Amino acid sequence: MARIVMKFGGTSVADLDRIRNVAARVAREVVRGHEVAVVVSAMSGTTNQLVGWCQSLAPLHDAREYDTVVATGEQVVTGLLAIALQERGVDARSWQGWQIPIETDDAHGKARIMGIDGADLIRRMGLGQVAVVSGFQGIGPDRRITTLGRGGSDTSAVALAAALKADRCDIYTDVDGVYTTDPRIVSKARKLDKIAYEEMLELASVGAKVLQTRSVELAMNERVRVRVLSSFVEMDPNDPLDGDKAGTLVVDEDEIVEKQMVAGIAYSRDEAKITLRRIPDRPGIAAAIFGALADHNVNVDMIVQNISADGMTDLTFTVGKADLPRAQATLAEAQPQIGHAEAIADPSVAKISVVGTGMRSHAGVANTMFRALADKAINIQVISTSEIKVSVLIAADYTELAVRALHTAYCLDAA
Ligand code: ADP
Ligand code: ASP
Ligand code: MG
Repeated sequence: MARIVMKFGGTSVADLDRIRNVAARVAREVVRGHEVAVVVSAMSGTTNQLVGWCQSLAPLHDAREYDTVVATGEQVVTGLLAIALQERGVDARSWQGWQIPIETDDAHGKARIMGIDGADLIRRMGLGQVAVVSGFQGIGPDRRITTLGRGGSDTSAVALAAALKADRCDIYTDVDGVYTTDPRIVSKARKLDKIAYEEMLELASVGAKVLQTRSVELAMNERVRVRVLSSFVEMDPNDPLDGDKAGTLVVDEDEIVEKQMVAGIAYSRDEAKITLRRIPDRPGIAAAIFGALADHNVNVDMIVQNISADGMTDLTFTVGKADLPRAQATLAEAQPQIGHAEAIADPSVAKISVVGTGMRSHAGVANTMFRALADKAINIQVISTSEIKVSVLIAADYTELAVRALHTAYCLDAA
């Protein structure tokens, strides 16, 4: 007997038939004698609609009210799944974040989980009751509802698994595991049986949406055994353990026997590029620009500065697309201090990244990337690197072409 957390994403609970399918999967684990907590997302599309409503009323709305609105999508699904489980004869009840409670900080819209009191859940699970928990939400120090940022149900699931001392955390989604790149844009992407925490963390942070970045960070720190698998593959009634070997396990680096130089490729269209033209090339200028942006909660990712001519230079950097209006307003306000002639914004860019722990010991990884992109006549606008990652910024129109070319160049294509 094991204690398991099962998490189901938006497409897995998109309608009543799918919720019945989830109930069947949960019931199967209960019949096997396991203690089960389930974490659910909102039905796919719901959160986008809720976010859209807030933005339509006021682009710069009160983040606390935004959380009140967007947290509702998950609540519906917890109740529906509890009913579907009860219909199958499984004892189940729903839990909202505030009821457990899942305590977070007060960063509304992107809150971090500070603690979960799992005692009551553990006691009830011991009596055979399934806990159906709303993902994505918690309660802040001000006793108001918070949400964990888009994709946050993954993080709810991993945090709950840690708090409940679960034997594993199964993340059910619409693909059957973590692939070498997004299988929706590269048909030759290969499923990985295992991926190292660090690689998964880096892939998630540069755009692979299959797991929220913070969930991987938590799993790594709390030693939670995370498995990514599909909620759509048929269950095999003749194989009582079917599915146990499926999906992708996120593991320690030394558990991976056949190490590849590059584990995967990710892309993100969530960034926008800003170029400041003709700024004075003198000490303190970067501090003036990035200090002003930080003061307005705008995160900056990639940065490149040109050599100067006549004491003037150009500076290019990227910010989250959602932050672009705030970044532009901030730069306009700080123009007298910065002294730039012009601020040019370009939202039509994509960041393409190759990730692999093998880069630590292999030279030439970046060069392979540059060569493959050059062969397709794709211009590189900005480059940034870390120990296990190389990222480039390119025109958004070339995203798929670039990802496919790199997938082939690093010999990741499935046979
Ligand atoms: P859920 O609603 O279940 O949380 P998400 O849409 O958040 O699902 O994440 C699953 C999606 O992640 C897949 O449909 C796939 O398009 C995308 N994805 C991006 N990169 C990868 C990757 N390397 N491996 C698998 N899926 C990926
Ligand atoms: N429903 C939330 C979202 O769409 C959380 C999640 O699905 O993980 O971002
Ligand atoms: Mg998700």
